[in-house]
Amino acid sequence: MVDSDIALPGDIIAKEEEYLPGKNTEPYDGNIVATKLGRIVRDDKNLTISVVGSNKKTPIGVGSIVYGKVIKINGKDAIIQLYAINEGGKLHPVDHEAKLMLPVQGKSGYTHIISLGDIVRAKVTSVKPIYVTIFNTDLGVLKTRCLICRNELILKNNVLYCTNCQRIETRKIASDYGNINISGDNCERS
Ligand SMILES: [Zn+2]
Repeated sequence: MVDSDIALPGDIIAKEEEYLPGKNTEPYDGNIVATKLGRIVRDDKNLTISVVGSNKKTPIGVGSIVYGKVIKINGKDAIIQLYAINEGGKLHPVDHEAKLMLPVQGKSGYTHIISLGDIVRAKVTSVKPIYVTIFNTDLGVLKTRCLICRNELILKNNVLYCTNCQRIETRKIASDYGNINISGDNCERS
């Protein structure tokens, strides 16, 4: 559960027995999960819970630290749906698609660098079109799910582990993978 009133995509914001999923949310495994960065709005009359984004647009520049979800993988590149930018230690909503170039399998040492639906922290390397990289210690996957059962993977003895099927998987994870605040220590949810 999220303490703050700001939700990031993938955050569990309520149980399905408490509310009906409203705007920018979806039911998942008995919970209601945010699909967008925004403020949590609870409508206790209609028993719905929604996430309302801001319309303020923050420009993206080279070097910007951004957050997004992997929505497509084409072999040598992936498409990341960016939803937030870190500006002065605070997250602001953005809405862009970015491309991430993936190294040739085998050379990188990762079986799977990323998987569909992963939440990543990335750095912008070019704009128009937007390209990002995740190949730095503080960058990479922040949330991922088991490829078999879709359970969220935890970090156990420095490996990604599924407590449901006892599988070990590999991703290029950020150094703070598994932190409750997925936006990072120096980064408040504003
Ligand atoms: Zn599993």
